[in-house]
Amino acid sequence: MNENRDSNPTVAPIVWRGPEFLREVEARSGARVSACLQCHKCSTGCPVAREADLYPSQMMRMILLGQAEELLASSGIWLCASCEACTTRCPMAIDIAGVMDALRILAVERKAQLGDAHGHHFNRAFLASVRRHGRVFEMGMMTAYKLRTRDLFSDVDKAPKLLLKGKLPLVPKRSRSARKVREIFRRADADQEGKP
Ligand code: SF4
Ligand code: SF4
Repeated sequence: MNENRDSNPTVAPIVWRGPEFLREVEARSGARVSACLQCHKCSTGCPVAREADLYPSQMMRMILLGQAEELLASSGIWLCASCEACTTRCPMAIDIAGVMDALRILAVERKAQLGDAHGHHFNRAFLASVRRHGRVFEMGMMTAYKLRTRDLFSDVDKAPKLLLKGKLPLVPKRSRSARKVREIFRRADADQEGKP
């Protein structure tokens, strides 16, 4: 098990807080979380589980226990790459990737405080970059992220290799769909403010 997870406060003790959260997640995702056997097959196949503060199977357990606040503050729901490996492996055919989508939506709607502040800054820098260019401009996004977190020097050793391989363009390349992407952001802003 990952060291971060051992010390992470988001792993709450086993306390049942009622069925409301389970009902809401099942309604939003269309997945039958209550059928979970805790076999951990989803966790063993998840490519990001080692980096996350919670395994997918732990998240399923927390939904069953109604531990909404702790779960919605987890960085794991944002690290999920939507690869659907968990969904494919689940013996109970639970759409775990769909559950992750529902958890992210609930976290935004409830303005959940992310336990990992760096993750919050990363999300903001990523979305600002996509809003501006219609796609992510890695160099600009990482600069904004590092300024926000004041973590200027971690991972800088990787930059020369990425530059040499042409994976870190110095100038943003605007997407041909930039206008459509901006419209999506505009509609999302209007939704949040309750405007048509
Ligand atoms: S969809 Fe998300 S939770 Fe499931 S295996 Fe992929 S990264 Fe892990
Ligand atoms: S694979 Fe399915 S049944 Fe097994 S722990 Fe994950 S969600 Fe539960």
